Amino acid sequence: MATDIQARRAQVADEVKFDIFTETHDLDVEKQIRQITRCFISDTITVPTKEMYAYAARASVGDDVYHEPSTLALEAHMARLTGKEAALFMPSGTMSNQIALRTHLKQPPYSVLCDARAHINKYEAGGTAFHSGAHTIPVPPSNGRHLTLRDVEANVVLGYDVHSAPTEVVSLENTLNGTIFPQEEIVAISDFAHNKGLKMHLDGARIWHVAASTGTTIKELCAPFDSVSLCFSKGLGAPVGSCLVGSKEYIAKARWFRKLFGGGMRQIGILAASAAYALTHNFPRLVDVHELTLRLEQGLRNIGVEITSPGETCMVFYDPSSVGVEYWEIVDRASKLPEPIVVSGSRLVVHIQTSPAAVDDFLQLVRDLAEEKKRAGFDAAQYKAQANGHVRTNHDIYVRGVKPKP
Ligand SMILES: *Cc1c(COP(=O)(O)O)cnc(C)c1O
Repeated sequence: MATDIQARRAQVADEVKFDIFTETHDLDVEKQIRQITRCFISDTITVPTKEMYAYAARASVGDDVYHEPSTLALEAHMARLTGKEAALFMPSGTMSNQIALRTHLKQPPYSVLCDARAHINKYEAGGTAFHSGAHTIPVPPSNGRHLTLRDVEANVVLGYDVHSAPTEVVSLENTLNGTIFPQEEIVAISDFAHNKGLKMHLDGARIWHVAASTGTTIKELCAPFDSVSLCFSKGLGAPVGSCLVGSKEYIAKARWFRKLFGGGMRQIGILAASAAYALTHNFPRLVDVHELTLRLEQGLRNIGVEITSPGETCMVFYDPSSVGVEYWEIVDRASKLPEPIVVSGSRLVVHIQTSPAAVDDFLQLVRDLAEEKKRAGFDAAQYKAQANGHVRTNHDIYVRGVKPKP
């Protein structure tokens, strides 16, 4: 009998076990890392390095639902850095934004005002309606670059008219599509909003870029806001994680919502330490990213490609139709290079692991395509004359380079 159960247990253990590593594993990872140096789709693809993981492996091993020492240390640092009372580690930027809004918003009907191109409006699966029962007021910036006090004043809903959903939160994003939001304008919007009793939230997923580029402290950038969400896993190259900061009372409630949302995590010291490593070692590298982005932008301009949103930090939006080239042609040819390049469409993102050679190769490819079109009869001057006055504003859309069906 005893041997019978032992045999069955051994069989179950045999079924359960799994070696994740294949024969070619190490080579596959090396290849993957090479591909990342030649991928312009996003900065979310940046990868933790061996050095980051070596540092992170020393993290404490507590259970974060009961408070984890390394995680607490990171949260304390983030609170200090942003000039807020408290901070909360989050598994993603989306959860951080959504819990931020949920914690501000208490009883519908109400609305959240934001830039029409904002992540919370376009890329969080309608979460504001789902989680908070809030109406969103998406405002296209009248200057095409960032919201202004006048845009906010013109669209905010105040008062007690039963037809409307009064605005309770103004949510801004910095950077948005890689562009820097002027701090004076943010302060003006914040003064107005606070005067009207509204809360200010900042989606600061990429706020690091603003500080790195302008030399403004993170604290000053966060000062006009009641809550700020910052991401570690985008430009900074940590594997996972974001942080929400705010008042003590606010973060205590957010912690409660995080558990409710299923975001109470356990031995995450290793993630907190990865984020700490990213702050120390990767934040200072963002200025190089900005330089490489400018090189990419200038290279495209030199070829005659239209820039629809300039490379202020880590992104450039472009439109190659000014040289007779379609996105899908670039996507297609880039994928067929001896060392392939991955692009998706109108948005090009540069990150700390982008290789300068990939930028050069990409520019060469666009140059080659433009030459081919010219030889085939494309007349850039005529195209320009026809497009006269028609301003393309596709920089807020991730126009995909998909080949049209014949
Ligand atoms: C990526 C991003 C988020 C969300 O982060 P995830 O970790 O992908 O959920 C939020 N805001 C902005 C501006 C982002 O770019």
